[in-house]
Amino acid sequence: TASATSFSDGTPLSVLSQVFGYDEFRGEQAAIIDQIVAGGDAVVLMPTGGGKSLCYQIPSLLREGTGVVVSPLIALMSDQVAALEAVGIRAAFLNSTLEPHEAQAVEQRLLAGEIDLLYMAPERLVLPRTLDLLQRARIALVAIDEAHCVSQWGHDFRPDYLGLSVLADAFPDVPRVALTATATRETHREISTRLRMEEAEHFVSSFDRPNIQYRIDPKDRPRDQLLRFISAEHDGDAGIVYCMSRKSVDTTAQWLNERGVTALPYHAGLDARVRHTHQERFLREEGIVIVATIAFGMGIDKPDVRFVAHLDLPKSIEGYYQETGRAGRDGLPSTAWMAYGLGDLVNQRRFIDQGDGSDQFKRNARTHLDAMLALCETVTCRRVQLLRYFGQDSEACGNCDTCLTPPTTWDATVPAQKLLSTLIRLDRERGQKFGSGQVLDVLLGRANDRSTQFRHDELSVWGIGQDLSEKQWRSALRQLLARGIVEAEGDYGVLVPGPESGPVLRSDVTVELAEDRSPPSQSSGRSRS
Ligand code: ADP
Ligand code: ZN
Repeated sequence: TASATSFSDGTPLSVLSQVFGYDEFRGEQAAIIDQIVAGGDAVVLMPTGGGKSLCYQIPSLLREGTGVVVSPLIALMSDQVAALEAVGIRAAFLNSTLEPHEAQAVEQRLLAGEIDLLYMAPERLVLPRTLDLLQRARIALVAIDEAHCVSQWGHDFRPDYLGLSVLADAFPDVPRVALTATATRETHREISTRLRMEEAEHFVSSFDRPNIQYRIDPKDRPRDQLLRFISAEHDGDAGIVYCMSRKSVDTTAQWLNERGVTALPYHAGLDARVRHTHQERFLREEGIVIVATIAFGMGIDKPDVRFVAHLDLPKSIEGYYQETGRAGRDGLPSTAWMAYGLGDLVNQRRFIDQGDGSDQFKRNARTHLDAMLALCETVTCRRVQLLRYFGQDSEACGNCDTCLTPPTTWDATVPAQKLLSTLIRLDRERGQKFGSGQVLDVLLGRANDRSTQFRHDELSVWGIGQDLSEKQWRSALRQLLARGIVEAEGDYGVLVPGPESGPVLRSDVTVELAEDRSPPSQSSGRSRS
Protein backbone atom coordinates (compact mmCIF):
# COMPACT_ATOMS: atom_id res chain seq x y z
CA THR A 1 0.00 0.00 0.00
CA ALA A 2 0.99 3.59 -0.58
CA SER A 3 2.25 5.68 2.31
CA ALA A 4 1.20 9.17 3.19
CA THR A 5 4.59 10.62 2.37
CA SER A 6 4.41 9.43 -1.22
CA PHE A 7 1.45 11.79 -1.72
CA SER A 8 2.67 14.75 0.25
CA ASP A 9 5.22 15.86 -2.30
CA GLY A 10 2.70 15.61 -5.14
CA THR A 11 0.33 18.21 -6.51
CA PRO A 12 -3.47 17.99 -6.50
CA LEU A 13 -3.39 17.11 -10.18
CA SER A 14 -0.79 14.37 -9.76
CA VAL A 15 -2.81 12.82 -6.94
CA LEU A 16 -5.96 13.07 -9.05
CA SER A 17 -4.39 11.14 -11.89
CA GLN A 18 -2.11 8.75 -9.99
CA VAL A 19 -4.46 7.79 -7.20
CA PHE A 20 -7.92 8.30 -8.66
CA GLY A 21 -7.14 7.84 -12.33
CA TYR A 22 -8.86 11.01 -13.57
CA ASP A 23 -7.34 13.54 -16.00
CA GLU A 24 -8.85 16.79 -14.89
CA PHE A 25 -10.76 18.46 -12.11
CA ARG A 26 -14.41 19.22 -12.50
CA GLY A 27 -16.01 22.57 -11.82
CA GLU A 28 -14.77 24.09 -8.58
CA GLN A 29 -12.83 21.06 -7.34
CA ALA A 30 -9.37 22.53 -8.01
CA ALA A 31 -10.15 25.84 -6.30
CA ILE A 32 -11.65 24.09 -3.27
CA ILE A 33 -8.68 21.77 -2.92
CA ASP A 34 -6.20 24.67 -3.17
CA GLN A 35 -8.07 26.54 -0.44
CA ILE A 36 -7.96 23.59 1.97
CA VAL A 37 -4.41 22.54 1.18
CA ALA A 38 -3.38 26.11 2.01
CA GLY A 39 -5.05 25.72 5.42
CA GLY A 40 -8.25 27.71 4.83
CA ASP A 41 -11.85 26.74 5.61
CA ALA A 42 -14.40 26.08 2.88
CA VAL A 43 -18.17 25.75 2.62
CA VAL A 44 -18.92 23.68 -0.46
CA LEU A 45 -22.32 23.54 -2.12
CA MET A 46 -22.27 21.09 -4.97
CA PRO A 47 -25.06 19.00 -6.45
CA THR A 48 -25.18 15.27 -5.89
CA GLY A 49 -22.71 13.61 -8.21
CA GLY A 50 -20.70 16.81 -8.54
CA GLY A 51 -17.63 15.22 -6.97
CA LYS A 52 -17.55 16.46 -3.40
CA SER A 53 -15.53 13.56 -1.99
CA LEU A 54 -12.34 14.40 -3.86
CA CYS A 55 -12.50 17.91 -2.41
CA TYR A 56 -11.48 16.58 1.01
CA GLN A 57 -9.85 13.30 0.03
CA ILE A 58 -7.09 14.91 -2.02
CA PRO A 59 -6.22 17.58 0.60
CA SER A 60 -6.13 14.81 3.23
CA LEU A 61 -3.44 13.09 1.20
CA LEU A 62 -1.50 16.26 0.49
CA ARG A 63 -1.51 17.65 4.02
CA GLU A 64 0.35 16.01 6.82
CA GLY A 65 -1.76 13.90 9.17
CA THR A 66 -5.18 12.30 8.99
CA GLY A 67 -8.26 13.74 7.32
CA VAL A 68 -11.25 13.27 9.62
CA VAL A 69 -14.53 12.88 7.75
CA VAL A 70 -17.78 13.42 9.66
CA SER A 71 -20.71 11.66 8.07
CA PRO A 72 -24.14 10.67 9.38
CA LEU A 73 -24.22 7.61 7.15
CA ILE A 74 -22.72 4.90 9.30
CA ALA A 75 -24.05 2.19 7.00
CA LEU A 76 -21.92 3.47 4.14
CA MET A 77 -18.64 3.87 5.97
CA SER A 78 -17.27 0.40 5.45
CA ASP A 79 -17.99 0.60 1.70
CA GLN A 80 -16.36 4.01 1.47
CA VAL A 81 -13.31 2.77 3.31
CA ALA A 82 -13.07 -0.33 1.12
CA ALA A 83 -13.25 1.82 -2.02
CA LEU A 84 -10.41 4.01 -0.76
CA GLU A 85 -8.28 1.06 0.27
CA ALA A 86 -8.77 -0.36 -3.21
CA VAL A 87 -6.88 2.62 -4.66
CA GLY A 88 -4.13 2.42 -2.04
CA ILE A 89 -5.36 4.97 0.47
CA ARG A 90 -5.07 4.10 4.16
CA ALA A 91 -8.61 4.59 5.36
CA ALA A 92 -10.57 3.51 8.43
CA PHE A 93 -13.77 4.29 10.30
CA LEU A 94 -14.74 4.55 13.93
CA ASN A 95 -18.36 3.76 14.66
CA SER A 96 -20.68 1.67 16.77
CA THR A 97 -20.43 -1.35 14.44
CA LEU A 98 -16.83 -1.97 15.54
CA GLU A 99 -15.90 -4.33 18.37
CA PRO A 100 -13.92 -2.60 21.14
CA HIS A 101 -10.68 -4.25 20.08
CA GLU A 102 -11.24 -3.18 16.47
CA ALA A 103 -11.83 0.41 17.54
CA GLN A 104 -8.70 0.25 19.63
CA ALA A 105 -6.66 -0.92 16.68
CA VAL A 106 -7.94 2.01 14.60
CA GLU A 107 -7.02 4.40 17.41
CA GLN A 108 -3.52 2.97 17.53
CA ARG A 109 -3.07 3.39 13.80
CA LEU A 110 -4.36 6.96 14.05
CA LEU A 111 -1.86 7.87 16.75
CA ALA A 112 0.93 6.21 14.80
CA GLY A 113 0.10 8.41 11.79
CA GLU A 114 -0.90 5.44 9.68
CA ILE A 115 -4.32 6.62 8.52
CA ASP A 116 -4.95 9.04 5.66
CA LEU A 117 -8.72 9.24 6.04
CA LEU A 118 -10.81 8.46 9.09
CA TYR A 119 -14.62 8.40 8.92
CA MET A 120 -16.88 8.84 11.92
CA ALA A 121 -20.39 9.90 12.84
CA PRO A 122 -20.94 13.31 14.48
CA GLU A 123 -22.16 11.84 17.78
CA ARG A 124 -18.89 9.95 18.06
CA LEU A 125 -16.68 12.87 17.20
CA VAL A 126 -18.07 15.16 19.90
CA LEU A 127 -17.47 12.68 22.73
CA PRO A 128 -14.78 14.08 25.05
CA ARG A 129 -12.92 10.82 24.65
CA THR A 130 -12.79 11.18 20.86
CA LEU A 131 -11.83 14.84 20.96
CA ASP A 132 -9.02 13.92 23.33
CA LEU A 133 -7.86 11.17 20.99
CA LEU A 134 -7.83 13.55 18.04
CA GLN A 135 -5.85 16.11 20.08
CA ARG A 136 -3.13 13.52 20.46
CA ALA A 137 -3.11 12.69 16.75
CA ARG A 138 -2.05 14.79 13.81
CA ILE A 139 -5.14 16.03 11.98
CA ALA A 140 -4.86 17.22 8.38
CA LEU A 141 -8.40 18.57 8.13
CA VAL A 142 -11.95 17.96 9.24
CA ALA A 143 -14.54 17.42 6.52
CA ILE A 144 -18.20 17.74 7.53
CA ASP A 145 -20.26 15.87 4.97
CA GLU A 146 -24.03 16.39 4.57
CA ALA A 147 -23.52 19.69 6.36
CA HIS A 148 -27.15 20.73 5.78
CA CYS A 149 -27.99 18.35 8.65
CA VAL A 150 -27.05 21.25 10.92
CA SER A 151 -30.03 23.26 9.73
CA GLN A 152 -33.02 23.16 12.05
CA TRP A 153 -35.27 24.31 9.22
CA GLY A 154 -33.97 21.77 6.78
CA HIS A 155 -35.55 18.43 6.01
CA ASP A 156 -32.69 16.41 7.48
CA PHE A 157 -31.91 18.04 10.81
CA ARG A 158 -29.63 16.04 13.13
CA PRO A 159 -29.08 17.57 16.56
CA ASP A 160 -25.64 15.96 16.79
CA TYR A 161 -24.44 18.27 14.06
CA LEU A 162 -24.88 21.28 16.34
CA GLY A 163 -22.18 19.84 18.60
CA LEU A 164 -19.67 20.12 15.78
CA SER A 165 -19.26 23.81 16.55
CA VAL A 166 -16.74 22.76 19.24
CA LEU A 167 -14.27 21.99 16.48
CA ALA A 168 -13.61 25.68 15.97
CA ASP A 169 -12.06 26.00 19.43
CA ALA A 170 -10.74 22.48 19.77
CA PHE A 171 -8.77 22.59 16.51
CA PRO A 172 -8.22 26.25 15.62
CA ASP A 173 -5.37 25.46 13.24
CA VAL A 174 -7.02 22.61 11.42
CA PRO A 175 -8.83 23.55 8.21
CA ARG A 176 -12.47 22.61 8.08
CA VAL A 177 -14.61 21.97 5.04
CA ALA A 178 -18.40 21.65 5.18
CA LEU A 179 -20.07 20.02 2.19
CA THR A 180 -23.66 19.64 1.10
CA ALA A 181 -25.74 18.98 -1.98
CA THR A 182 -28.82 20.66 -0.68
CA ALA A 183 -28.67 24.23 0.34
CA THR A 184 -31.05 27.07 0.06
CA ARG A 185 -29.66 30.46 1.03
CA GLU A 186 -31.10 29.93 4.48
CA THR A 187 -29.28 26.63 5.04
CA HIS A 188 -26.16 28.16 3.59
CA ARG A 189 -26.19 30.88 6.23
CA GLU A 190 -26.96 28.38 8.96
CA ILE A 191 -23.99 26.22 8.03
CA SER A 192 -21.66 29.21 8.38
CA THR A 193 -23.01 30.34 11.72
CA ARG A 194 -23.79 27.06 13.45
CA LEU A 195 -20.54 25.41 12.49
CA ARG A 196 -18.73 28.68 13.27
CA MET A 197 -17.28 28.90 9.80
CA GLU A 198 -17.89 32.61 9.23
CA GLU A 199 -14.41 33.03 7.81
CA ALA A 200 -14.72 30.18 5.35
CA GLU A 201 -14.62 30.74 1.65
CA HIS A 202 -17.85 29.66 -0.07
CA PHE A 203 -17.82 27.60 -3.22
CA VAL A 204 -21.23 27.42 -4.83
CA SER A 205 -21.56 25.27 -7.91
CA SER A 206 -24.48 25.43 -10.23
CA PHE A 207 -27.21 23.10 -9.11
CA ASP A 208 -28.34 22.54 -12.65
CA ARG A 209 -28.22 18.99 -13.94
CA PRO A 210 -28.85 19.73 -17.61
CA ASN A 211 -28.84 16.08 -18.69
CA ILE A 212 -31.80 15.26 -16.46
CA GLN A 213 -35.20 15.75 -18.06
CA TYR A 214 -37.79 16.66 -15.43
CA ARG A 215 -41.36 15.48 -15.95
CA ILE A 216 -44.39 15.34 -13.70
CA ASP A 217 -47.54 13.62 -14.94
CA PRO A 218 -50.96 13.62 -13.34
CA LYS A 219 -51.42 10.37 -11.47
CA ASP A 220 -54.04 8.13 -12.97
CA ARG A 221 -53.07 4.49 -12.73
CA PRO A 222 -49.53 4.97 -11.46
CA ARG A 223 -48.17 1.47 -12.01
CA ASP A 224 -49.47 1.31 -15.56
CA GLN A 225 -48.05 4.75 -16.18
CA LEU A 226 -44.71 3.65 -14.77
CA LEU A 227 -44.60 0.53 -16.90
CA ARG A 228 -45.49 2.52 -20.00
CA PHE A 229 -42.75 5.01 -19.17
CA ILE A 230 -40.14 2.30 -18.64
CA SER A 231 -41.03 0.28 -21.73
CA ALA A 232 -41.27 3.29 -24.01
CA GLU A 233 -38.17 5.11 -22.89
CA HIS A 234 -35.99 3.04 -20.59
CA ASP A 235 -36.35 -0.58 -21.56
CA GLY A 236 -33.41 -2.47 -20.05
CA ASP A 237 -32.02 0.60 -18.26
CA ALA A 238 -31.03 0.85 -14.63
CA GLY A 239 -33.39 3.01 -12.62
CA ILE A 240 -34.77 3.79 -9.20
CA VAL A 241 -38.48 3.90 -8.38
CA TYR A 242 -39.38 5.67 -5.14
CA CYS A 243 -42.55 4.81 -3.24
CA MET A 244 -43.65 6.09 0.12
CA SER A 245 -44.50 2.91 2.00
CA ARG A 246 -42.71 -0.39 2.40
CA LYS A 247 -45.84 -2.16 1.31
CA SER A 248 -46.10 -0.30 -1.98
CA VAL A 249 -42.38 -0.94 -2.54
CA ASP A 250 -42.98 -4.69 -2.22
CA THR A 251 -46.10 -4.79 -4.36
CA THR A 252 -44.71 -2.50 -7.05
CA ALA A 253 -41.49 -4.53 -7.35
CA GLN A 254 -43.46 -7.73 -7.68
CA TRP A 255 -45.88 -6.18 -10.15
CA LEU A 256 -42.99 -5.01 -12.36
CA ASN A 257 -41.31 -8.41 -12.22
CA GLU A 258 -44.50 -10.10 -13.37
CA ARG A 259 -44.40 -7.80 -16.38
CA GLY A 260 -40.80 -8.53 -17.37
CA VAL A 261 -38.96 -5.69 -15.62
CA THR A 262 -36.21 -6.93 -13.29
CA ALA A 263 -37.14 -5.02 -10.17
CA LEU A 264 -35.79 -5.45 -6.62
CA PRO A 265 -37.34 -4.04 -3.46
CA TYR A 266 -35.28 -2.05 -0.97
CA HIS A 267 -36.52 -0.72 2.36
CA ALA A 268 -35.66 -0.73 6.03
CA GLY A 269 -38.08 -3.56 6.77
CA LEU A 270 -36.10 -6.07 4.71
CA ASP A 271 -33.43 -8.25 6.20
CA ALA A 272 -30.02 -6.54 6.07
CA ARG A 273 -28.61 -9.34 3.96
CA VAL A 274 -31.39 -9.08 1.40
CA ARG A 275 -30.92 -5.33 1.24
CA HIS A 276 -27.24 -5.74 0.71
CA THR A 277 -27.72 -8.31 -2.06
CA HIS A 278 -30.22 -6.09 -3.85
CA GLN A 279 -27.94 -3.10 -3.62
CA GLU A 280 -25.00 -5.12 -4.90
CA ARG A 281 -27.01 -6.45 -7.83
CA PHE A 282 -28.15 -2.95 -8.68
CA LEU A 283 -24.55 -1.75 -8.66
CA ARG A 284 -22.97 -4.67 -10.50
CA GLU A 285 -25.57 -5.96 -12.94
CA GLU A 286 -27.03 -4.08 -15.87
CA GLY A 287 -30.59 -2.92 -16.19
CA ILE A 288 -31.79 -3.51 -12.64
CA VAL A 289 -34.63 -1.39 -11.35
CA ILE A 290 -34.60 -0.77 -7.61
CA VAL A 291 -37.95 -0.01 -6.02
CA ALA A 292 -37.26 1.75 -2.75
CA THR A 293 -38.37 4.01 0.02
CA ILE A 294 -36.27 7.14 0.38
CA ALA A 295 -33.86 5.11 2.53
CA PHE A 296 -32.19 4.01 -0.66
CA GLY A 297 -29.53 5.93 -2.49
CA MET A 298 -27.70 8.08 0.04
CA GLY A 299 -24.11 7.85 -1.07
CA ILE A 300 -24.82 5.22 -3.72
CA ASP A 301 -22.39 5.88 -6.51
CA LYS A 302 -23.78 4.37 -9.70
CA PRO A 303 -23.07 6.66 -12.63
CA ASP A 304 -25.43 5.14 -15.20
CA VAL A 305 -28.81 5.30 -13.46
CA ARG A 306 -30.94 6.33 -16.46
CA PHE A 307 -34.15 7.21 -14.66
CA VAL A 308 -35.57 8.04 -11.27
CA ALA A 309 -39.33 7.64 -10.94
CA HIS A 310 -41.51 8.85 -8.08
CA LEU A 311 -44.83 7.13 -7.54
CA ASP A 312 -45.50 9.29 -4.50
CA LEU A 313 -44.89 12.93 -3.82
CA PRO A 314 -41.63 13.80 -2.01
CA LYS A 315 -42.04 15.95 1.10
CA SER A 316 -39.77 18.73 -0.07
CA ILE A 317 -37.92 20.08 -3.08
CA GLU A 318 -34.68 19.24 -1.29
CA GLY A 319 -35.70 15.60 -1.16
CA TYR A 320 -36.94 15.58 -4.74
CA TYR A 321 -33.74 17.18 -5.98
CA GLN A 322 -31.54 14.78 -4.04
CA GLU A 323 -33.45 11.71 -5.20
CA THR A 324 -33.72 12.74 -8.85
CA GLY A 325 -30.05 13.72 -8.68
CA ARG A 326 -29.13 10.05 -8.50
CA ALA A 327 -29.97 9.82 -12.20
CA GLY A 328 -27.37 10.51 -14.84
CA ARG A 329 -24.25 11.13 -12.81
CA ASP A 330 -22.32 10.18 -15.95
CA GLY A 331 -23.75 13.22 -17.70
CA LEU A 332 -25.74 11.23 -20.27
CA PRO A 333 -29.43 11.92 -20.93
CA SER A 334 -31.63 10.70 -18.07
CA THR A 335 -35.19 11.17 -16.91
CA ALA A 336 -36.74 12.23 -13.63
CA TRP A 337 -40.36 11.20 -13.91
CA MET A 338 -43.09 11.51 -11.32
CA ALA A 339 -46.76 10.67 -11.06
CA TYR A 340 -48.58 13.10 -8.83
CA GLY A 341 -52.25 13.34 -7.94
CA LEU A 342 -54.90 14.73 -5.68
CA GLY A 343 -54.45 11.94 -3.13
CA ASP A 344 -50.74 12.73 -2.67
CA LEU A 345 -51.50 16.28 -1.77
CA VAL A 346 -54.30 15.43 0.66
CA ASN A 347 -52.35 12.61 2.32
CA GLN A 348 -49.14 14.56 2.74
CA ARG A 349 -50.95 17.50 4.29
CA ARG A 350 -52.77 15.13 6.61
CA PHE A 351 -49.52 13.40 7.67
CA ILE A 352 -48.13 16.75 8.67
CA ASP A 353 -51.23 17.91 10.51
CA GLN A 354 -51.66 14.65 12.40
CA GLY A 355 -48.00 13.90 12.95
CA ASP A 356 -45.98 14.53 16.07
CA GLY A 357 -43.86 17.60 16.35
CA SER A 358 -44.14 21.16 17.48
CA ASP A 359 -46.23 23.79 15.70
CA GLN A 360 -43.02 25.27 14.42
CA PHE A 361 -42.01 21.90 12.98
CA LYS A 362 -45.35 21.51 11.27
CA ARG A 363 -45.31 25.01 9.86
CA ASN A 364 -41.90 24.26 8.50
CA ALA A 365 -43.00 20.96 6.99
CA ARG A 366 -45.98 22.68 5.36
CA THR A 367 -43.73 25.30 3.81
CA HIS A 368 -41.52 22.59 2.35
CA LEU A 369 -44.50 20.70 1.01
CA ASP A 370 -46.06 23.82 -0.50
CA ALA A 371 -42.88 24.55 -2.44
CA MET A 372 -42.95 20.99 -3.75
CA LEU A 373 -46.62 21.35 -4.75
CA ALA A 374 -45.87 24.59 -6.54
CA LEU A 375 -43.21 22.77 -8.54
CA CYS A 376 -45.74 20.09 -9.47
CA GLU A 377 -48.36 22.61 -10.53
CA THR A 378 -46.14 25.09 -12.33
CA VAL A 379 -47.03 25.92 -15.92
CA THR A 380 -43.59 27.39 -16.61
CA CYS A 381 -40.16 25.71 -16.82
CA ARG A 382 -39.65 23.24 -13.98
CA ARG A 383 -35.89 23.68 -14.01
CA VAL A 384 -36.19 27.44 -13.61
CA GLN A 385 -38.46 26.87 -10.62
CA LEU A 386 -36.18 24.21 -9.13
CA LEU A 387 -33.05 26.32 -9.45
CA ARG A 388 -34.79 29.44 -8.19
CA TYR A 389 -35.62 27.48 -5.04
CA PHE A 390 -31.88 27.04 -4.52
CA GLY A 391 -31.33 30.72 -5.16
CA GLN A 392 -30.05 30.39 -8.72
CA ASP A 393 -31.52 32.22 -11.72
CA SER A 394 -31.74 30.53 -15.09
CA GLU A 395 -33.56 30.56 -18.42
CA ALA A 396 -36.28 28.19 -19.66
CA CYS A 397 -34.42 24.94 -20.25
CA GLY A 398 -36.05 23.21 -23.20
CA ASN A 399 -35.58 19.88 -21.41
CA CYS A 400 -38.55 19.53 -19.09
CA ASP A 401 -42.17 18.69 -19.78
CA THR A 402 -43.48 22.22 -19.40
CA CYS A 403 -40.86 23.50 -21.88
CA LEU A 404 -41.36 20.63 -24.33
CA THR A 405 -45.16 20.74 -24.30
CA PRO A 406 -46.30 23.95 -22.65
CA PRO A 407 -49.52 23.19 -20.78
CA THR A 408 -52.68 24.80 -22.05
CA THR A 409 -54.39 26.85 -19.41
CA TRP A 410 -58.09 27.51 -19.03
CA ASP A 411 -60.20 29.95 -17.11
CA ALA A 412 -61.45 28.02 -14.10
CA THR A 413 -62.90 30.97 -12.22
CA VAL A 414 -66.50 29.82 -12.55
CA PRO A 415 -65.81 26.16 -11.70
CA ALA A 416 -63.78 27.32 -8.68
CA GLN A 417 -66.74 29.44 -7.57
CA LYS A 418 -69.13 26.52 -8.08
CA LEU A 419 -66.92 24.29 -5.99
CA LEU A 420 -66.60 26.86 -3.20
CA SER A 421 -70.35 27.53 -3.18
CA THR A 422 -70.97 23.80 -2.93
CA LEU A 423 -68.71 23.55 0.13
CA ILE A 424 -70.44 26.53 1.72
CA ARG A 425 -73.94 25.22 0.95
CA LEU A 426 -73.21 21.74 2.25
CA ASP A 427 -71.89 23.17 5.46
CA ARG A 428 -74.54 25.86 5.90
CA GLU A 429 -77.66 23.99 4.85
CA ARG A 430 -76.81 20.52 6.01
CA GLY A 431 -74.27 21.31 8.72
CA GLN A 432 -71.84 18.83 7.21
CA LYS A 433 -68.43 18.92 5.62
CA PHE A 434 -67.38 16.22 3.16
CA GLY A 435 -64.29 14.81 1.51
CA SER A 436 -63.49 15.11 -2.18
CA GLY A 437 -65.46 12.01 -3.25
CA GLN A 438 -68.81 13.21 -1.94
CA VAL A 439 -68.21 16.79 -3.06
CA LEU A 440 -67.50 15.61 -6.61
CA ASP A 441 -70.66 13.49 -6.56
CA VAL A 442 -72.72 16.53 -5.57
CA LEU A 443 -71.12 18.66 -8.29
CA LEU A 444 -71.71 15.97 -10.88
CA GLY A 445 -75.19 15.17 -9.55
CA ARG A 446 -74.37 11.51 -8.95
CA ALA A 447 -76.66 9.94 -6.40
CA ASN A 448 -75.21 7.74 -3.67
CA ASP A 449 -76.26 6.57 -0.21
CA ARG A 450 -75.05 9.67 1.48
CA SER A 451 -76.64 12.09 -0.98
CA THR A 452 -79.92 10.35 -0.27
CA GLN A 453 -79.35 10.35 3.48
CA PHE A 454 -78.45 14.04 3.60
CA ARG A 455 -80.87 15.03 0.78
CA HIS A 456 -78.04 16.54 -1.25
CA ASP A 457 -80.09 16.22 -4.41
CA GLU A 458 -82.44 18.91 -3.12
CA LEU A 459 -79.68 21.50 -2.86
CA SER A 460 -79.36 24.21 -5.51
CA VAL A 461 -75.77 23.16 -6.12
CA TRP A 462 -76.73 19.58 -7.02
CA GLY A 463 -75.23 18.76 -10.42
CA ILE A 464 -73.99 22.29 -11.16
CA GLY A 465 -70.62 20.91 -12.24
CA GLN A 466 -71.81 18.61 -14.99
CA ASP A 467 -70.12 20.67 -17.69
CA LEU A 468 -66.77 19.20 -16.57
CA SER A 469 -65.76 15.55 -16.46
CA GLU A 470 -64.77 13.92 -13.19
CA LYS A 471 -61.17 13.87 -14.37
CA GLN A 472 -61.25 17.61 -15.01
CA TRP A 473 -62.78 18.20 -11.61
CA ARG A 474 -60.09 16.15 -9.90
CA SER A 475 -57.40 18.06 -11.74
CA ALA A 476 -59.01 21.38 -10.86
CA LEU A 477 -59.51 20.39 -7.24
CA ARG A 478 -55.88 19.32 -6.93
CA GLN A 479 -54.67 22.65 -8.28
CA LEU A 480 -57.10 24.63 -6.13
CA LEU A 481 -55.87 22.75 -3.05
CA ALA A 482 -52.25 23.38 -4.00
CA ARG A 483 -53.01 27.10 -4.24
CA GLY A 484 -54.86 27.32 -0.93
CA ILE A 485 -58.17 28.23 -2.61
CA VAL A 486 -59.58 25.03 -1.12
CA GLU A 487 -58.29 23.27 1.98
CA ALA A 488 -58.62 19.67 3.20
CA GLU A 489 -58.79 19.33 6.97
CA GLY A 490 -59.15 16.75 9.72
CA ASP A 491 -58.89 12.99 9.75
CA TYR A 492 -61.11 12.57 6.73
CA GLY A 493 -59.69 15.38 4.64
CA VAL A 494 -62.98 17.25 4.51
CA LEU A 495 -62.93 20.14 2.08
CA VAL A 496 -63.39 23.73 3.23
CA PRO A 497 -62.80 27.08 1.53
CA GLY A 498 -59.10 27.89 1.84
CA PRO A 499 -57.35 31.13 2.87
CA GLU A 500 -57.17 32.23 -0.78
CA SER A 501 -60.87 31.66 -1.48
CA GLY A 502 -62.21 35.16 -0.68
CA PRO A 503 -61.05 37.00 -3.83
CA VAL A 504 -62.20 34.06 -5.97
CA LEU A 505 -65.73 34.13 -4.53
CA ARG A 506 -65.90 37.91 -4.99
CA SER A 507 -64.66 37.57 -8.59
CA ASP A 508 -61.75 39.86 -7.73
CA VAL A 509 -59.34 37.47 -9.43
CA THR A 510 -59.52 35.00 -12.28
CA VAL A 511 -58.31 31.49 -11.71
CA GLU A 512 -56.13 30.13 -14.51
CA LEU A 513 -55.54 26.41 -14.24
CA ALA A 514 -53.43 24.09 -16.32
CA GLU A 515 -55.03 21.37 -18.34
CA ASP A 516 -53.65 17.97 -17.33
CA ARG A 517 -51.48 16.71 -20.15
CA SER A 518 -51.96 12.96 -20.22
CA PRO A 519 -53.83 10.84 -20.82
CA PRO A 520 -55.74 13.25 -23.07
CA SER A 521 -59.17 13.95 -21.72
CA GLN A 522 -62.05 12.99 -24.01
CA SER A 523 -64.53 15.32 -22.44
CA SER A 524 -65.03 18.67 -24.15
CA GLY A 525 -65.30 20.62 -20.91
CA ARG A 526 -64.82 24.36 -20.71
CA SER A 527 -61.38 24.47 -22.20
CA ARG A 528 -60.69 27.78 -23.92
CA SER A 529 -57.39 27.24 -25.65
P1 ADP B 1 -20.96 13.71 -4.56
O1 ADP B 1 -20.40 13.29 -3.23
O2 ADP B 1 -20.78 15.17 -4.84
O3 ADP B 1 -22.34 13.23 -4.80
P2 ADP B 1 -18.92 11.98 -5.54
O4 ADP B 1 -17.79 12.57 -4.80
O5 ADP B 1 -19.47 10.69 -5.05
O6 ADP B 1 -20.09 13.02 -5.68
O7 ADP B 1 -18.52 11.86 -7.07
C1 ADP B 1 -19.44 11.41 -8.03
C2 ADP B 1 -18.74 10.63 -9.12
O8 ADP B 1 -17.94 11.48 -9.92
C3 ADP B 1 -17.82 9.56 -8.58
O9 ADP B 1 -17.93 8.42 -9.40
C4 ADP B 1 -16.46 10.19 -8.71
O10 ADP B 1 -15.44 9.22 -8.78
C5 ADP B 1 -16.61 10.97 -9.99
N1 ADP B 1 -15.68 12.10 -10.09
C6 ADP B 1 -15.46 13.05 -9.15
N2 ADP B 1 -14.57 13.95 -9.56
C7 ADP B 1 -14.20 13.57 -10.81
C8 ADP B 1 -13.29 14.11 -11.79
N3 ADP B 1 -12.59 15.22 -11.56
N4 ADP B 1 -13.18 13.45 -12.96
C9 ADP B 1 -13.91 12.34 -13.20
N5 ADP B 1 -14.77 11.78 -12.32
C10 ADP B 1 -14.92 12.38 -11.14
ZN1 ZN C 1 -37.74 23.65 -18.79
